[in-house]
Amino acid sequence: MVVTGGSRGIGAAVALKAAAAGYAVLVNYAGNAAAAGSVVERIRQAGGTADRVRGDVGSEADVEAIFAAADAMGPLSALINNAGVFDQPSLLADMTAERLERTFRINILGSFLCARAAARRMAQSRGGKGGSIVNLTSAAAKLGAGGENIDYAASKGAIDTFTIGLARELAADGVRVTAVRPGIIDTDIHASGGRPDRVAQMTPNLPMRRPGTADEVAEAILWLVSDSASYSTGTILDVSGGRAILP
Ligand code: NAP
Repeated sequence: MVVTGGSRGIGAAVALKAAAAGYAVLVNYAGNAAAAGSVVERIRQAGGTADRVRGDVGSEADVEAIFAAADAMGPLSALINNAGVFDQPSLLADMTAERLERTFRINILGSFLCARAAARRMAQSRGGKGGSIVNLTSAAAKLGAGGENIDYAASKGAIDTFTIGLARELAADGVRVTAVRPGIIDTDIHASGGRPDRVAQMTPNLPMRRPGTADEVAEAILWLVSDSASYSTGTILDVSGGRAILP
């Protein structure tokens, strides 16, 4: 299994649970080698198989290198398209083209490039054995995040559509494509978007009066990626504690 952005947050939780479930896991990271190394070390100490690989999912050359590293671990059976970025709150009128390009490049192009690499390996019509891809979208795709992070929300809207389209494209090829749509999850992403106190501020207004945990999202991902979800494809599962559950 390749987990993009597996060094921290939801990706790290997925890597740890997947390894415990028996997957050999390749932990991809962008820059935090220590965090990725710690996930790999925890997996190995528990008797699992894991390795780490640096790579920017928004770079075609890096994605090729990530999947070459995965090939060295055995045939690919699963991709968790998890790496994503979230910028400072801003009105569209004040966003630079560089910011928009970065958000769309990592969140959209990155997911497409990784899924393409996985499809080339797993599609039965290309000699693969089938497999499963889980994308990370967001409740923001439904809410729009106007006045805050409209670029991020729209990038996740693209992932919703991508999930449905690719699911149909690969359905007869033995590859299922699904997604989870988290709400407010307590990870570093809020601080990296310039708001370390965002989760605490939002908590009183969340339906369950608490944020979700990375583990709670990882549980849903592990189910979707597994054979237990064998007739689910194109499925987008809300893991949002009741936030943004209406279409
Ligand atoms: P996080 O804690 O900020 O972790 C981000 C991970 O992505 C890190 O492992 C980071 O690697 C990696 N990464 C960042 N840019 C990358 C790039 N260009 N190439 C490869 N890896 C990259 O994020 P998270 O909260 O776990 O979010 C994971 C996914 O869930 C994202 O797609 C996010 O949009 C989505 N999501 C999160 C929430 C939430 O509330 N947390 C809600 C809805 C959706 P380094 O450690 O090397 O920096």
